[in-house]
Amino acid sequence: MSDLATLAAGCDAAPSVPILRERGQRSVFCGLTGIIWLHRKIEDAFFLVVGSRTCAHLLQSAAGVMIFAEPRFATAIIEERDLAGLADANDELDAVVTRLLERRPDIKLLFLVGSCPSEVIKLDLSRAAFRLSQRFAPTVRVLNYSGSGIETTFTQGEDACLAALVPILPATTARGLLIVGALADVVEAQFRRLLAALGIGPVAFLPAGQANALPPVGANTQFLLAQPFLADTARALEARGARRIPAAFPLGAEGTALWLAAAARAFGIAAPAIEVVLAAPRARARAALACHAPLLAGKRIFFFPDSQLEVPLARFLAREMGMQPVEIGTPYLHRQHLAEELALLPEGVRLSEGQHVERQLDRCRAAAPDLVVCGLGLANPLEAEGLATKWSIELLFTPIQGFEQAGDLAGLFARPLQRRALLAV
Ligand code: SF4
Repeated sequence: MSDLATLAAGCDAAPSVPILRERGQRSVFCGLTGIIWLHRKIEDAFFLVVGSRTCAHLLQSAAGVMIFAEPRFATAIIEERDLAGLADANDELDAVVTRLLERRPDIKLLFLVGSCPSEVIKLDLSRAAFRLSQRFAPTVRVLNYSGSGIETTFTQGEDACLAALVPILPATTARGLLIVGALADVVEAQFRRLLAALGIGPVAFLPAGQANALPPVGANTQFLLAQPFLADTARALEARGARRIPAAFPLGAEGTALWLAAAARAFGIAAPAIEVVLAAPRARARAALACHAPLLAGKRIFFFPDSQLEVPLARFLAREMGMQPVEIGTPYLHRQHLAEELALLPEGVRLSEGQHVERQLDRCRAAAPDLVVCGLGLANPLEAEGLATKWSIELLFTPIQGFEQAGDLAGLFARPLQRRALLAV
């Protein structure tokens, strides 16, 4: 039996994974953070946050660490007089958008991004988007979504943004594959090549690089999620007739092979032909992973809930790098989208959904793991207590999907351990 066939068979037998559900104080970034990687992906889009100075500061500090920061996002500040109802926030928003679009004719797609303050004053951004769309059509499309931090986590911003795009995707009856989720350009190019070599086509990506090149969707579209946090987008695509291809996520040599093989099977490609295409890049990925294995094997890792990538990452680190997940915390557990991943987790691993940050910190301290994956807010205090940490947000800013990135992905987890080892000398 080939590697792929063995793994596909394993996926059918999900082990019983105990889940600890927690509701309490949380420590996460809000959905505005997604703008930092989305604005680089959709080249002629602009993200206008309708929010407060806090929102502007969050964006500036998150973008400030990026050398690519370009002015394709901004914050329309809701002032105190708006909050007090002394000014018509809709008039002010229209004026801001008009000035922006006059100054920036390169903008073809404008997202009005809701925030906690815009929700507090009940500013209806969907009506504003509709009104402004009519005014600026056909040159500019105006859409809206919420990046509010209330009851969300930071990757949900991408989900909300892509879900907002689904209704305006052109309709098609043709058969095709849609890859869903923002991927670095280099990763997208590699997947295009591999999918073409497998004989799958036409292949489109959501988000597309240009507003006027949106991928078509219809009842003969099959889609493959590239990220595990796209529940609303998947639902919106299914409402347009598209069908999801169940698969593990393309992290590591194994995950990438499973992800591509799932697409190939859905398009009727036979197992031997899949193996011919995947064998060489998978072997390269395994060789790259072997460089990091001596440092990572046997190390205990604790995930705080943050990016929603925790389950696929834990699967990769446990199965391919020999790490031992102590606890896999995730903000939300989408059982259906993660079914193939859950089936591959080590038997008996502790999985927690939601967060009660104090209790989880106690469990983490008691477990004394070798490495903690968490948000920025928890990393510094934990480092001060002597624990090595990895910022989960880095996993969204770094190309980590696919065979050629597998070594870099392992390296992200090896580096904090190397640094700590050097400090200990
Ligand atoms: S949207 Fe809410 S959580 Fe996010 S920066 Fe603005 S106020 Fe803070």
